[in-house]
Amino acid sequence: MRLPLPRRYASVAAMLRNFYAFAEIDRAGQRRRDAAWLSERIAHPTTRFLPVWRNQNLVDIEAEPPRAAFLTAEQIARDAGETVLLGIDDSGAFFALDLSAHDEPLAAIRYERPLEFTDLRRVGALMDRHEGSLLAYARGMMWWHARHRFCGVCGSKAASEDAGHVRRCSDPACATAHFPRTDPAVIMLVTDGARCLLGRQRSWPKGQHSTLAGFVEPGESLEDAVAREVLEETGIIVGAVRYHSSQPWPFPASIMLGFTAEARSTTIAVDPSELEDARWFERGYLLAHQDDDAFRLPRRDSIARRLIEDWLAG
Ligand SMILES: [Zn+2]
Repeated sequence: MRLPLPRRYASVAAMLRNFYAFAEIDRAGQRRRDAAWLSERIAHPTTRFLPVWRNQNLVDIEAEPPRAAFLTAEQIARDAGETVLLGIDDSGAFFALDLSAHDEPLAAIRYERPLEFTDLRRVGALMDRHEGSLLAYARGMMWWHARHRFCGVCGSKAASEDAGHVRRCSDPACATAHFPRTDPAVIMLVTDGARCLLGRQRSWPKGQHSTLAGFVEPGESLEDAVAREVLEETGIIVGAVRYHSSQPWPFPASIMLGFTAEARSTTIAVDPSELEDARWFERGYLLAHQDDDAFRLPRRDSIARRLIEDWLAG
């Protein structure tokens, strides 16, 4: 018998996209090499800049809900930092602005409301999804720039090109172009009829359990990565694997590829180097449970939560 669905899950099935996947902009890829257009946009009063400082985003933390801080060119000190074109919409262009070179980044900008650099994971789940997605995009791009300052081929310095979407080796004999990197990770809800398999890592908040996940390896299909990770972490063999949805997860540089998988075995053998615990949870238990220190669901802005909630709602 199907249990009645609590209100908090009722709208989940209708939701198509995950947190951080809602940036409603045109990425304007064809404009990235248009130097005249770029400098005109950077100076234009309708252009908005989203500052990033050492992996933190600038947020109006006192707004209810917290909001992204959109700055204009006028509010930013000259040569404050490098920019990356994020894209455009009907209202103008959006750039990420890297203030990481400043020990006191707030001194490089002028602003009226109290703004704060913060980890997006602290506030992302509360924010407007479009704004949260823009901040995630900006953070992901700046993280890549910060870690690709040198050419991986010859070791020379690399410099930003194409409005921040390429880093080119400065040695003319090499001149290798390096492109922004995002690491594919599979994340999967394994089910066995009315039960699903959730695990927890030692480092997570008390009681938190989640779906299994792991990085895709070179030379491996996504389906094989799902089966391998589940087997390695829990000893469970899976059969049918189905794609669900994806989520940019720039913490620091992943794209989470969500799947559901049907179990072909049920005896769990946890790999203690990966997980502290893994168990089968009954649908009825999850529907009735309120988060506490013995058991809590994954964070609201994660695709893991979405996979579980969609299964509960299904
Ligand atoms: Zn090089």
